[in-house]
Amino acid sequence: MKAILVNSCGGPEKLELAEVPVPAPGPGQALVRIEASGVNFIDIYFRTGLYKADPPIALGMEAAGIVEAVGPGVTEAEPGDRVAYTMCRGSYADYAVVPAWQLVKIPGSLDTRTVAAAMLQGMTAHYLTHSTFPLAPGQAALVHAAAGGVGLLLVQMAKLRGARVFATVSTEAKAALARQAGADEVILYSRQDFEPEVKRLTDGRGLDVVYDSVGVATFDRSLNCLRPRGMMVSYGQSSGAVPPFDPLILNHKGSLFLTRPSLGHYCANREELLWRAGDLLGWIAAGQLQVRIHQAFPLADAAQAHRDLEGRLTSGKLLLIP
Ligand code: NDP
Repeated sequence: MKAILVNSCGGPEKLELAEVPVPAPGPGQALVRIEASGVNFIDIYFRTGLYKADPPIALGMEAAGIVEAVGPGVTEAEPGDRVAYTMCRGSYADYAVVPAWQLVKIPGSLDTRTVAAAMLQGMTAHYLTHSTFPLAPGQAALVHAAAGGVGLLLVQMAKLRGARVFATVSTEAKAALARQAGADEVILYSRQDFEPEVKRLTDGRGLDVVYDSVGVATFDRSLNCLRPRGMMVSYGQSSGAVPPFDPLILNHKGSLFLTRPSLGHYCANREELLWRAGDLLGWIAAGQLQVRIHQAFPLADAAQAHRDLEGRLTSGKLLLIP
């Protein structure tokens, strides 16, 4: 089978299309024939070496497809099932072996690509808005990179929870998408400093929560946008990692809360996975949540997908099709 591997960390040119044996499912595992694999920023972190793994590094953290075979003891799925999963590395491939407890059955009304596109970013938006900082109606939330893959879903889910949503984006085209997703206030942070703008729009009160995936470029000013005892959710670093941080700053800026969450810890068991995936796929099926697929690339063009994602050229999801 074909798979994208990284033998030494670096730029997109380090993605190699390799021929490898089809893996066999062991106890508790399923072999999935992949129909669509999602591209996520975490794949870039593994490629560059920001997140560590032993080479050859198999990339890709989510996919949807068909169960081809199951190992001993599997009760969650059987051959022929349409399934999707996330948080298991190696989905940039024709086949992947996945712990069966991580598989979610795809409802009949949903197409495979939409579900592949929704799993990682959608469940991230779910835990951020429902668990890390469970938004209540009327609360003010800032979503950075609001026209990105996570961003568009996060804006929509924050609106489903009744929040007032502030969004930052870099271009007019992205601003239009953020507004379409439901953002109440859209700030072009490429042209305007978002900190004074947020203060102006909240009459100096500040925000209840900032969902910050941009990292070093926005971190300090995001803290300044919070109300006393507000929460800074630093969940990514698309512009670069946030440097070491003195907790006393949280005191000086108003007894703030800071968390650096990860989807893995918020989908820790099957019950939690089925709750989040059930909500997510249910909203998509009901037309309450739109999943925007920016582009689908052939698996062999994974490097171009990485270039586009890193180059801020995308709005929504990138898929790789084996
Ligand atoms: P996006 O589609 O959001 O792409 C990244 C976006 O970040 C760009 O489109 C761009 O939007 C913005 N950005 C700002 N500065 C830069 C920069 N210097 N270089 C590149 N992009 C920049 O990607 P994803 O939806 O895949 O991921 C978004 C973030 O969420 C990532 O940081 C990722 O690590 C994080 N994440 C965290 C998870 C968790 O559980 N902790 C799970 C999933 C994702 P604009 O042009 O509008 O500025």
